[in-house]
Amino acid sequence: MSDYLMQTYARQPVAFVRGEGAWLFDSNGDKYLDALAGVAVNGLGHGHPRLAHALCEQAAKLIHTSNIYRILEQEELAARLCQLSGLARAFFCNSGAEANEAAIKIARLHGHNKGIDSPAIVVMEKSFHGRTMATLSATGNRKVQAGFEPLVSGFVRVPFGDVAAVEALSAHHKNIVAILVEPYQGEGGVQIPQAGYLGELRRICDEQDWLLMLDEVQTGIGRTGTWFAFQHGNLMPDVMTLAKGLGSGVPIGACLARGVAAETFTPGKHGSTFGGGPLACTAALTTLSVMESDDLLNNAAKLGAFIRSDLADRLHDLSGIVEIRGQGLMIGIELDRTCTDLVKLALADKLLINVTNDNVVRLLPPLVMTQADAELLTEKLARLIRTFLG
Ligand SMILES: *Cc1c(COP(=O)(O)O)cnc(C)c1O
Repeated sequence: MSDYLMQTYARQPVAFVRGEGAWLFDSNGDKYLDALAGVAVNGLGHGHPRLAHALCEQAAKLIHTSNIYRILEQEELAARLCQLSGLARAFFCNSGAEANEAAIKIARLHGHNKGIDSPAIVVMEKSFHGRTMATLSATGNRKVQAGFEPLVSGFVRVPFGDVAAVEALSAHHKNIVAILVEPYQGEGGVQIPQAGYLGELRRICDEQDWLLMLDEVQTGIGRTGTWFAFQHGNLMPDVMTLAKGLGSGVPIGACLARGVAAETFTPGKHGSTFGGGPLACTAALTTLSVMESDDLLNNAAKLGAFIRSDLADRLHDLSGIVEIRGQGLMIGIELDRTCTDLVKLALADKLLINVTNDNVVRLLPPLVMTQADAELLTEKLARLIRTFLG
């Protein structure tokens, strides 16, 4: 381990040097099945030839100019994302936290434009929105916030999945301007709300003249079997944020909006030096193009259903399993106990997984995973969980 790095991560003692599809190879030549995809980033898996080719070509032409000028790749990507989502305009940045910062700034500015001097945003318990000061303040996890007080004010918190709690707020808080919510919570333990939850939030937002802002940083770009998770329901957000899977590992984030939210920023109100550069936009355009031509949304839906049902079959007799849940290739296996040690046990078995919320095994496989890889995954993981639960 390096003495020259700040100690922000408790890293696993392995370094990968190359990859192919859902497989990673370490410096000893050992191969690992990747069921985490760089935490929902590498949708196209590793070493994708079309992505590598597009990036090489773009790097030879232009990597960066500036948002002082038009950027054709950025204009094309904005149009493409708006066409896929039904939203109207995009702002590009470099990460999920930055995308949420843009959404929070839009909500506040929109509030001020309406004459609300101290606008507030409704956020959820167990949510995760990033680690900048505003986004960690919006996050519903004390571990993320502790030690960084004073927090950014202007957030009102309610339990995730609780429509009545949001409704109750509207009576007392006249300064609320928006709701910021993940369609399915990722870091919070792969939490899936009851069907119709987002639609109910949409209804409240319409009644109260609030913006519905969806954090799709983890759920977006095909992860759940549709381009965006909100598309499993019958509603439209006013604002949506994207990052993780958008650039297949080349850093890019986006904040999309429609209606008044799309017109809120005017020149000078927001910006980013690197945001939406030619190389990152080429990565995103190629990601979307490969996902479409290789039918990866369907693959995510189909493989996800297989993985959940096959794990349920293999583990049905174990009382330590609380629930197996998810949508597409965003899957959580909740145990009745802390299971962070499973990450190490899996690594020793050459399988890359993650544990979130202490007791939820989280799978976020690349969307290019094959049926054969998925079968290997469920077999290995079921064996590991069975041994772990003893
Ligand atoms: C990962 C994540 C973020 C933060 O993204 P960064 O790129 O790490 O800043 C925000 N929201 C959600 C839902 C996430 O999963």
